[in-house]
Amino acid sequence: MHHTTWQPFAAAPGARAPGWVDLHMHSNLSDGALSVQEIIDTAVRRRLTAIAITDHDNIDSYALGKDLAQKNGLELIPGVEISSSWDGSDIHILGYFFDPTNLQLNTALERSKRRRLLRAKAMVRKLDRLGVRIRFEKVLSYVHGGTVGRPHIARALLEEEYVKTFQEAFEKWLGSDCPAYVDSESLTPMEAIALINNAGGAAVMAHPAHTNRDDLIPMMAQAGLKGIEIYCHRIPSASRRKYQDLARRHGLVWTGGSDSHSERPGAPGIGSVKVAHTVVEKLLEARDRHFAEI
Ligand code: AMP
Ligand code: ZN
Ligand code: FE
Ligand code: FE
Repeated sequence: MHHTTWQPFAAAPGARAPGWVDLHMHSNLSDGALSVQEIIDTAVRRRLTAIAITDHDNIDSYALGKDLAQKNGLELIPGVEISSSWDGSDIHILGYFFDPTNLQLNTALERSKRRRLLRAKAMVRKLDRLGVRIRFEKVLSYVHGGTVGRPHIARALLEEEYVKTFQEAFEKWLGSDCPAYVDSESLTPMEAIALINNAGGAAVMAHPAHTNRDDLIPMMAQAGLKGIEIYCHRIPSASRRKYQDLARRHGLVWTGGSDSHSERPGAPGIGSVKVAHTVVEKLLEARDRHFAEI
C-alpha cells in the first residue's frame, strides 16, 4: 500500500537553501486569526522554506493553500492538530504528510467538527444559565471553517463585555475547571495516531510541557507516534532538556513550531519558533520506516 500523494517540494535551481521551517500554526479555518493566504504571505516574507498549517481537527488548509505556496516557492506540508483525550487530559496530536483525501481521516474529522459544534452550543447554554447571555450566532460569526472552539466563545464574551481580556474569558468561564466548561468527547490519543498513520502521515505529540502527561509518552510511542515537540513557545530550557531525553529514549524525532494563532503584539507570530528543515526529512524518514515495517 502506498500513501505518498504528498511529495517533498523539489527545490528549483537557485531556490533558497533548506533553511527554517515552522510546523505548528492555526488559520481561521479553526481558531486562528489569519487566512491561509495571509499565513502563506507572512511565511514567505519571513523567508521560511516550509510550513505546516495545523488547524484543530481540520485539514482544509492544504487544498486551499497548495497552489499559492508552490507559486511562492514555499513548501506547504499537509498538517492537522487532532484533539484527543485520555482520563481527563486533553492530548493534542499533530499530523503531517498524510493524504488529505484519506476517507477514514476525513470521516473522523467531520465527526469531531460536529461534536465541537454541539459542545460549543452546550457551553453557550451553560453560560446562559450562569447569567452570561451571548448568542450562539455571535459565536458562529467568528467561525470560518467549521471547527468551532473555546476561543470563538471567548471572543463573543469579550465583544459583549462580559470580560476585559481574552485570557479572562478562560480564567473565569471557559477553562477546564471553570463553570461553563464542557468536556469534549473525543478520540483517544492512540486513535488519533492510528488515523494519521493510516492516512500515510507522521504523528507528533504537541506541546508536551503544557500537556503535562509524560506518563502517556511510552504508550503513544508504542502506538506509532513519530515525534514530539521540543521547541515550543516559552518552553523552559530545563523542560526542553527533559523532553529531549524522553524523545531519545523512545526514538522520537525532535520537532517544533510557534503554535501561532495571530500576529497580535505579544502573541507568538509565524516563525517565532522555528526548526531546521532537516526535521522535516527526519519525520519523513520515520514515516517511511513505519511503512517499510508493516
Ligand atoms: P478547544 O479546542 O475548543 O478546547 O479550545 C482550545 C484552544 O483554546 C487552545 O488551542 C488555545 O488556542 C485556546 N486556549 C485554551 N486555554 C487557553 C487559555 N487559558 N488562555 C488562552 N487561550 C486558551
Ligand atoms: Zn487553538
Ligand atoms: Fe494544542
Ligand atoms: Fe496548536
